[in-house]
Amino acid sequence: MEFHHLGTKKIFVDTTTEPVTSLEEILRILSAKVLQIPHGTDIPLKSGEKRIIENVACPICAELCDYLKIEITGNRIVRNIGGCAKSVSKFLNYHKDRILKPYIRINDKLVEVSLEEALDKAADILVNAKYPLIYGLSITSVKTDEYAIQLAELLRGAVDNPSTFCHGPTSLAVQEVGGVFTTFSDVINLADLVIFWGSDPINSHVNHLSRNIVPKGRFIGGRKDRKIVVIDIRRTELANMADLFIQVKPGRDVELITALRMALHDLDIEVDNVAGVPRDMVYKLADMMASAKYGVIMYGLGITENGVKHRSVEELMKLVQDLNEYTKFAVMPMRGHYNVVGSNEASLWLTGYPYAVDFARGFSRMYVGVTTAMDLLINGDVDAALIVGHDPVASFPRKAVQHLSRIPVIVIDPKWSLTTAFADVIIPSGMTGIECEGSAYRMDKIPIRMKKILDPPPGVLCDYEILKLLIDRVINKKVGKA
Ligand code: SF4
Repeated sequence: MEFHHLGTKKIFVDTTTEPVTSLEEILRILSAKVLQIPHGTDIPLKSGEKRIIENVACPICAELCDYLKIEITGNRIVRNIGGCAKSVSKFLNYHKDRILKPYIRINDKLVEVSLEEALDKAADILVNAKYPLIYGLSITSVKTDEYAIQLAELLRGAVDNPSTFCHGPTSLAVQEVGGVFTTFSDVINLADLVIFWGSDPINSHVNHLSRNIVPKGRFIGGRKDRKIVVIDIRRTELANMADLFIQVKPGRDVELITALRMALHDLDIEVDNVAGVPRDMVYKLADMMASAKYGVIMYGLGITENGVKHRSVEELMKLVQDLNEYTKFAVMPMRGHYNVVGSNEASLWLTGYPYAVDFARGFSRMYVGVTTAMDLLINGDVDAALIVGHDPVASFPRKAVQHLSRIPVIVIDPKWSLTTAFADVIIPSGMTGIECEGSAYRMDKIPIRMKKILDPPPGVLCDYEILKLLIDRVINKKVGKA
């Protein structure tokens, strides 16, 4: 039996003799429309001409490593040089467990249909809905994001992406107080102090340290000239490599940020301890920050999703603005999916809002807690959903998932997922970055070209092509209805 301390709560972990819940049982509990997801088919592999493609970008996390060397024989990917273990696994297994045909649900069975039939049924669902939701869009290209937003506007629906539960608070904080951001190259060439706050790239962005922290830059001699500080609620693996580790009490980061601002402004901190951090440590950290030549705070969900949400990020942005009175300092949000930044950017330039955009009144609006995908589903506000390249059933709360069992759902995805068990129409798509090209935005907002290195399976289109066909069909059906 093992005890863990989680803030003031104590939890324990013990072995169990309970049988593992089967997939069918999970789907039954969640009220899925079909209880058996068809077995994924593997794309048949054929060896053939050997090719090596250089400078391939990895379509997994927002590190977007664009220096991979991919070796292919025929349509078999045999090597991935430069990618981390996750990347090697994605490329070498791209052919496995794929959706290769469109499906329509009839009663509790998914029936194979032609692409034309699937598109027609999907367009019918969308045109007949009063208020449909389009969700996903961070594991695909910017072009797909643009078409999805166009479709949402056409339908007077809502469109959202996963920032809604990750770095949405960053977008809100920037709207309130602005932000000082930086790029990978500035970090490599200039940063002599890097603070990882509520982020753990050793697990989340595996190549991040070897790419940005260890190398020599133009004005920095590599790791030996670069101090690393880790601030987290527990001692992570990264903390063991850091020059300084500061353990903060869960959910109380905002107090520590405020205390750092006070220390910078020579105000007295009257308590001995702030959020679990001794007062002397607060002064020491404030001093390290103010005396750095170029400092960067790389922050993750430990800041954005820690209870007070965008207020923590706002305070962090103000701290960095304060620091710029003494030296150069910036932030870098450690974003998750490889194009979640692109989904925010496309949404911003097309609608004025980064996520949770509603077109019900014919113009764009955004109300967090009202037009966010999770709230639209939990409150039962939407009457149809189009999910592009995502698996909300695997991550959304049960109440939101159960609403997906009550409304028609269209899924566009290269692979089977839990969400496909809630679908009325499934349309297979090619994998962006392997079978479809496009652009994506790295976590530091640099656009990166995603290459096409193989053809999609026969009859399978890229998701932006599917959305374009869907838009044409929706326009035709709307004109026919008018
Ligand atoms: S760090 Fe992220 S982008 Fe880079 S290879 Fe690994 S998964 Fe891919």
